[in-house]
Amino acid sequence: MATSDRVEATLDPDDWERYRASSHRILDQLIDFLKDVRSRPVWRAPIEIERTDDDLPMAPRSLEDVWRWLSTQVLPYPTGNIHPRFFGWVHGTGTVGGVVAEMIAATMNSNVGGREHAAVHVERQVVSWAKRIFGFPETASGLLLSGTSMANVVGLAIARNGVDARIKHAGLAASRLRPIAYVSSEAHVSVTKALELIGLGSDCLHRVPVTSEFEIDPNALLQQISADRVAGLHPFCIIGNAGTVNTGAVDDLGRLADIAAAEALWFHIDGAFGALAQLSPRLQPRLRGIERADSLAFDFHKWLHVPYSVGCLLVRDESAHRAAFATDAGYLAKDGRALSGGAPWFSDYGPELSRGFSALKVWFVLQEHGIEKLAAMVEKNCDQARYLEGLIAQHSELELCAPVSLNIVCFRFRAPDALNREIVDQLHERGIAAPSTATIRGRLVIRVALTNHRTMRADLDVLVDAIVELGSRLRVETP
Ligand SMILES: *Cc1c(COP(=O)(O)O)cnc(C)c1O
Repeated sequence: MATSDRVEATLDPDDWERYRASSHRILDQLIDFLKDVRSRPVWRAPIEIERTDDDLPMAPRSLEDVWRWLSTQVLPYPTGNIHPRFFGWVHGTGTVGGVVAEMIAATMNSNVGGREHAAVHVERQVVSWAKRIFGFPETASGLLLSGTSMANVVGLAIARNGVDARIKHAGLAASRLRPIAYVSSEAHVSVTKALELIGLGSDCLHRVPVTSEFEIDPNALLQQISADRVAGLHPFCIIGNAGTVNTGAVDDLGRLADIAAAEALWFHIDGAFGALAQLSPRLQPRLRGIERADSLAFDFHKWLHVPYSVGCLLVRDESAHRAAFATDAGYLAKDGRALSGGAPWFSDYGPELSRGFSALKVWFVLQEHGIEKLAAMVEKNCDQARYLEGLIAQHSELELCAPVSLNIVCFRFRAPDALNREIVDQLHERGIAAPSTATIRGRLVIRVALTNHRTMRADLDVLVDAIVELGSRLRVETP
């Protein structure tokens, strides 16, 4: 190859028609892969690719060759959350349309950090819809992030900057105050991580006991706030849970909003999956008060089934939000015309400059299915949780371990913890179903989280039958 050819080369295909034909075949196979998902095991052990094929890829390979490898070495070994009997942790299912949406976004390859182009307006539209869904004022701000973990970081960083105006520039050391945040003992670990990351440290998080429903005890919260004030600490934030990770409990958000207002504290809500119950008029009353949050973190990739990964933060006070993240670097001037315009930029509302076009897949899922149908999926999962609760009541070998609040059911086979863990491991290994485990009041439980639009009641029958059968057999083998 002559030097001049090399300089002028691109990464585009040499033969566009061949590339088109191969790409169409790949898409067909991907759609079949989703259509037939039920016929495959929920999970199987992946190939350790990094051990078997770790040569640095120096030379080009054809699309067909790359696909042959991926379709045999990677595609058959997903997490499992696309399968109707995946009930572990809290994972969204995704949609077939999500595949198409990702393709469109990759085609445009937009950078949504800022500037004036269509993707920015799509994200503004999605944020505007989110504000309407959750009853936030039009003047509120928001942005998409990779998930609720990041949305918690950004929301709590804004709250932290409100503690003392010097913090943004002079750092925490400039302030003598000792900021304290409050959350129930059922909080997700991402809240702890967020406080560690923003320099407050996890010791600033005071954990408040919960009621028998696993909701924060408001009286205990009030007592702790006043004791901390007496001790010279500086309460600054209450974090409410809209759907706890262990049991799906929803704190009394209205009461927390009242306390935050009376005590002049920032009110942040971790609504990773549970906030989406807001879509359902039937479930909405459970979340009353969510519209009063100063900041609300939630995920589109869990109970809205948008492909990973995309979450959202809404912030009531736009100016506090922008003040926490805005910069004035000359090379990012936003007052220009044409492509250099488009202020305000999303990069002034969060830590990231380059940002992908995640908004497209959110927009797509909302448009393709509509709020009513998406709400019906949320309601279906909550009804299925009640159904599973009923199945547990019918089996004397099983025991319910926490009240069913929304979509999470915690129960156990009446046997030691180790046997329950073994049941869950075997369910995974055999590809039958994928619940996870949790620790409730010091005991290991089998935990089923229903954020799966493909699940049918019959799948829960399969799960319960398998648990009872495995448990009975294991109890005989290891008395
Ligand atoms: C999943 C989850 C998170 C973390 O969200 P990511 O999207 O995984 O970052 C936080 N809180 C709760 C209650 C969750 O379920």
